[in-house]
Amino acid sequence: MTASAGAENSNNVDLVIRNAQLLLESGLVRGGIAVSNGKICALSSDAHLPEAVEVIDADSKILMPGLIDAHAHIHDSEMDDHEDFTTGSRAAAAGGVTTFIDMPLVGQTDTVSAADAKIKLGEDLSIVDFSLNSGMLNDSNYTMIPHMIPKGVASFKAFTCPPFYANTGVITRALSEVAEYGGIVTIHSEDQGIIEEFSKDMDGDWDAPISHALARPPLAEQLAIRQNIAIADETGGHLHIAHVTTKGGIHEIERGRLRGVIVTTEVCPHHLTFYRDDMNRLGPKSKMNPPLRTKEDRASLWSALLRGSIEMVVSDHAPCPLDKKEVGQDDIREAWSGVDGIQMILRVLLSEGINKGRISFKRLLQVTSSNPAKIFGLYPRKGVLQVGSDADMVLIDLTKEEKISADMMFSKCGWTIYEGMKMTGVPLMTFVRGQKVFEFDRTTVKPGHGRFQPMGGVVQREEG
Ligand SMILES: [Zn+2]
Repeated sequence: MTASAGAENSNNVDLVIRNAQLLLESGLVRGGIAVSNGKICALSSDAHLPEAVEVIDADSKILMPGLIDAHAHIHDSEMDDHEDFTTGSRAAAAGGVTTFIDMPLVGQTDTVSAADAKIKLGEDLSIVDFSLNSGMLNDSNYTMIPHMIPKGVASFKAFTCPPFYANTGVITRALSEVAEYGGIVTIHSEDQGIIEEFSKDMDGDWDAPISHALARPPLAEQLAIRQNIAIADETGGHLHIAHVTTKGGIHEIERGRLRGVIVTTEVCPHHLTFYRDDMNRLGPKSKMNPPLRTKEDRASLWSALLRGSIEMVVSDHAPCPLDKKEVGQDDIREAWSGVDGIQMILRVLLSEGINKGRISFKRLLQVTSSNPAKIFGLYPRKGVLQVGSDADMVLIDLTKEEKISADMMFSKCGWTIYEGMKMTGVPLMTFVRGQKVFEFDRTTVKPGHGRFQPMGGVVQREEG
């Protein structure tokens, strides 16, 4: 790739990327793209591109919309030793993610003032754009839903299990609220009763990391999803199942859709990459919720992604300092649940998906960008390469090989669950609203480039 200054710039075009393979909703098309004031102003064959201040020759590499990661734990004021807007957004940029939807971790984002504070901090510190998930729902805060939606915070997180267990009554109230006012309830779906009871079987065996997975069997997920779908069916609210991991869970979602329930879902790169037996090799680092599953479950996730039953891939990025993992060496219950991921979504989908023939380029675009943009009310400002959309883009080298190591990662945690893996397919450059934020191995913009992106397209119905 070469960059050069254009001779003239009579059209106020800031950037042209030419000689690319553009990933459009129709598939891969040869040509280039022009950017003015952060937005795409032309999309054409190279011969018809305008002059620009900066011209990048993409050398026939693939240029696609930046990823939208709808589930990433980036900022929590009580846990800024885990990640923060600056480090987390750098990891995002290095993974081709141009917008993340921050998910609360332990601190609540359940008031307008808490959302305002987070937005201010994010705009001061993030290098990529972001939206906010709100949560976690409980019996005293679901009434905030109609107050948050006008702020563009329209996705609300709930749990069916600890640490933020909300009973079925709360979930019914919340789904009724979004049926009335618009928005989405995103639910971490594992059944509390199953976890409690199966944890008793592990008595004395907690030194084996796999015990964590055995105490949270697939049935826990399937039952919770079935129950949440029944509530969505009754209320008419949009249910989004967080990080589905099992064949049984996917089955419940597909059955719900067949009878008209509004239910969408997501999958994480770690559940697409690893499986349950890897836990004894990887140790406490591989602890997350829901846990790693069997090879058969992993295969069912890929096939559901291929046939469109899973709409998007999200990171569930939730790393921690290494010592919070190491304390689980002798008792896996002591280890933090969560892994890095925001820098790995695209790498996993290129290496394990595209390059192994498991998904097509059109599906890659849908599951990383256009679907999350449409579902979370960011489309067509985000999620597509078309004239008038934000120039959020990632240039990828599909054949470049790399060995994943902690020193290439931008996350604050200093380790990665993908350590040592050889992968093929690398994000080379990332642009947010036309500004290059990442190139090869470094970020190229100061903290504060990121802007809050309100979720739109949610229906606010008239009272009475
Ligand atoms: Zn999460």
